Amino acid sequence: MNSIKPYIIGIDIGGTKLATVVADTEGTILRKLRWPTDSQRGPDAIVDSLIEMAHLTLSEVGVNMADVAGVGVSCGGPLDTETGVVYSPPNLPGWDAYPLKDKLGSALEIPVIIENDANAGGLAEWMFGAGQRCRYMLYMTMGTGIGGGIVIDGQIYHGANDSAGEVGHQILIPEGPLCGCGQRGCLEALCSGPSIARRARELIAHDPDTLILELAGGRLESVRTEFVVQAAHEGDALALKLLDQTAYYMGWGIANLVNILNVEVIVLGTVAVAAGSLLLEPMNRYMRRFAMSRPAEVAQIVPAQLGELVGDLAAVALVIADQIERTRSGTNSTLSQ
Ligand SMILES: [Zn+2]
Repeated sequence: MNSIKPYIIGIDIGGTKLATVVADTEGTILRKLRWPTDSQRGPDAIVDSLIEMAHLTLSEVGVNMADVAGVGVSCGGPLDTETGVVYSPPNLPGWDAYPLKDKLGSALEIPVIIENDANAGGLAEWMFGAGQRCRYMLYMTMGTGIGGGIVIDGQIYHGANDSAGEVGHQILIPEGPLCGCGQRGCLEALCSGPSIARRARELIAHDPDTLILELAGGRLESVRTEFVVQAAHEGDALALKLLDQTAYYMGWGIANLVNILNVEVIVLGTVAVAAGSLLLEPMNRYMRRFAMSRPAEVAQIVPAQLGELVGDLAAVALVIADQIERTRSGTNSTLSQ
């Protein structure tokens, strides 16, 4: 369409860092700026920084705001993609029903699309990474939490009030460990980075003869998931047992999702990328054991491909997907309003 402008601003709002990028409409990142979030300052001060960063990033590449099609924003949820209001993300204190889209839109005077980071990350993996050319994709993060994004035909599946894709809060063990959401035994309470570390500490307390404890300097409280992964790569028996447990719970949880969604590709980030086949091979095996045979036949769990770039590309992908949808439907979309 001749009205499409050639540049996109991407904004990634994290609990510890803010990033703005300028990209072209192919998703090539032309410039990136990263500042600390300093989240205690609250939303207005953070948005002021983001506006300054957006202008700075544009001026560094010599692009005028008039040539920018829109701003994509990837932010922790919960949030409402229609109204652009953000509701108290755990990593952003003070963001209580904060009208992020309005604040950014009125300051930058261009259209803004906001999306929760797991959904936007899923869209980026579909567009540029491990999910390319696949129609039915599920993206799952395995970091501080277990987030998810469902991407169907290149569009995020949001559900009735933007709450779809909470894959980490399916309950596997009702009497299990407490989860951040208030329930017990969620997949996230078993397999997030901190949850794997907690299970590691529990096992090591009974069985201290492990490389994991050496890597943690002999201090049980210093055990982290990255030491588990590192020790597993070196063949440590306890570390391998922990990864097998993790693969078992993840395979079980993913089998539930495969039965419901019948996705072709499940893209897993973070811990799964670091552990590689040590985790993915048994996870695929357990998924096939627990899922029904017909949906399992077409399902494959694969590592995410974008690594550190996912946050930047997530925000950019939002605007590109909107342009694709606008071209496809020939109707008004978020960016043409
Ligand atoms: Zn939960």
